[in-house]
Amino acid sequence: MLRVPGSSTDLLSLKAQGADVRIVYSPLDAVKIAQENKDKEVVFFAVGFETTAPANALAVYQAKTLGLRNFSLLVSHVLVPPAMEAILSSKNNRVQGFLAAGHVCAVMGYHEYLPIAAKYKVPVVVTGFEPLDLLQGIAMCVKQLEEGRFEVENQYARSVTREGNREAQDLIAKVFGVIPRKWRGVGEIPQSGLGLRAEFRDYDAELKFNVTTINTHESPECISGLILQGIRKPHECAAFGTKCTPEHPLGATMVSSEGACAAYYRYKRNS
Ligand code: SF4
Repeated sequence: MLRVPGSSTDLLSLKAQGADVRIVYSPLDAVKIAQENKDKEVVFFAVGFETTAPANALAVYQAKTLGLRNFSLLVSHVLVPPAMEAILSSKNNRVQGFLAAGHVCAVMGYHEYLPIAAKYKVPVVVTGFEPLDLLQGIAMCVKQLEEGRFEVENQYARSVTREGNREAQDLIAKVFGVIPRKWRGVGEIPQSGLGLRAEFRDYDAELKFNVTTINTHESPECISGLILQGIRKPHECAAFGTKCTPEHPLGATMVSSEGACAAYYRYKRNS
């Protein structure tokens, strides 16, 4: 997250300039920092898909239980199923099948994908992250396409069940509600994010620090929105590998090793 470009700078640059920006390995570590530094405001950047939401929910829950007043969450959680529907219902859609992320499904299960597969007639294969998992997931997806099937299949059965982790889902629902969310390079997708419920508003950094609407200014050369939607490929971006590299990313998809642009760069894909 530290290197994700914002409109004018990134957190790593601010840290280099002396800002107190810290990396923690668990949101509960941020709660502990708040406990130990009552004279400081501690804001935890709660970002990610459904995978990271339970731990972040737990952090807020614990902060409230402890009565902490100097801890808050800047929430930027997003949800997978509404994003899939946004892609599939786009008139430019080219996506014919999905590998559903195993870590998201370990939390949420895969029951939410059943109506999507049926409505849009696309195969969805819940897939793990080892190389063999990915190969098998792709093979299962291609097999469905060749056979004209559009089902939800579970390649990652060693970790994922249909219903998922009910305790984690209950915790998410207790702390967060579903809200519209802006996706970088894509725009707002209805009901595609999580925000803190009213009971936890004292822990909402946006309210606490009067953050008004933020309009991120993307690099005009960056086409990551189109890449995220499967419409363009990274090497089709004029900045790919020249102005934009993992060391100097212009867009979010070049930052993490999971990003499409970073993967294309790393494995020297030009087609
Ligand atoms: S290569 Fe860089 S500038 Fe181009 S789409 Fe990817 S992240 Fe954006």
